[in-house]
Amino acid sequence: MSAEIRIVLVNTSHPGNIGGVARAMKNMKFSQLHLVAPKKFPHVEADSRASGATDILENAVVHETLEQAIADCHFVVGTSARGRHIPWPVVDPRELSSIVQGAGDKRIAVVFGREDRGLTNEELHLCHHHVHIPSNPDFSSLNLAAAVQVITYELRMADLYAEQVEQQKPQWGTEWDIDLADSADLERLFAHMEETLVDIEFLDPDNPRQLMSRLRRLYLRTVPDKVEVNILRGIMNATQKKMKD
Ligand code: SAH
Repeated sequence: MSAEIRIVLVNTSHPGNIGGVARAMKNMKFSQLHLVAPKKFPHVEADSRASGATDILENAVVHETLEQAIADCHFVVGTSARGRHIPWPVVDPRELSSIVQGAGDKRIAVVFGREDRGLTNEELHLCHHHVHIPSNPDFSSLNLAAAVQVITYELRMADLYAEQVEQQKPQWGTEWDIDLADSADLERLFAHMEETLVDIEFLDPDNPRQLMSRLRRLYLRTVPDKVEVNILRGIMNATQKKMKD
């Protein structure tokens, strides 16, 4: 696999789960663990559940916010145990693995939520796609480390069978001419878009409804590259300039 994959855990409560995730990752040959505001870390329970995977815990990168943890990633996938308010493009772990296989040497983040309530809608709306493990609809939520295990297992299986998977073209192909925008580029785009839409009085800041969420979904679904993002920002600059004339 030429993509660089990081596992991001948001606001984990139980250090034992962080250890369980490290073990699951190392079993499947993954090593990059990023933690966003973990409740207790480092912790003896994390070490003990990690068994021999303490190297992953030692090298784990701790961030204050999810935005920081994914800023340099080209493709961000949020995991969810259930459907959400605004539907987003959802793939299963096998489809995710096929996309990742075709991603070349991109940086990819797979983001996991809190044990009690998963990821917030705002966090899910930072992600290009969502991944759902098709579990029992009446009992859909897996333990955090179990969810990481299932997804990393599928990623590894796809890697082992890379030649067959090669036949299925991922949506944005391997031969793209321009670098994909990273998450930080996209967040600047959305901030600029929001500002412009307020300037032209299309967006009412006192009653924004779901406009920005829907626009995020529209643009993230296309996994835009850097030039495309620059074109959109250029259009917004020109719009803002005309408004001020
Ligand atoms: N009660 C929470 C579930 C939290 S489970 C909720 O309703 O969202 C903790 C984390 O494990 C989730 O945030 C997600 O990252 C992962 N997870 C659990 N079950 C999953 C599933 N069926 N598909 C994808 N991820 C899942």
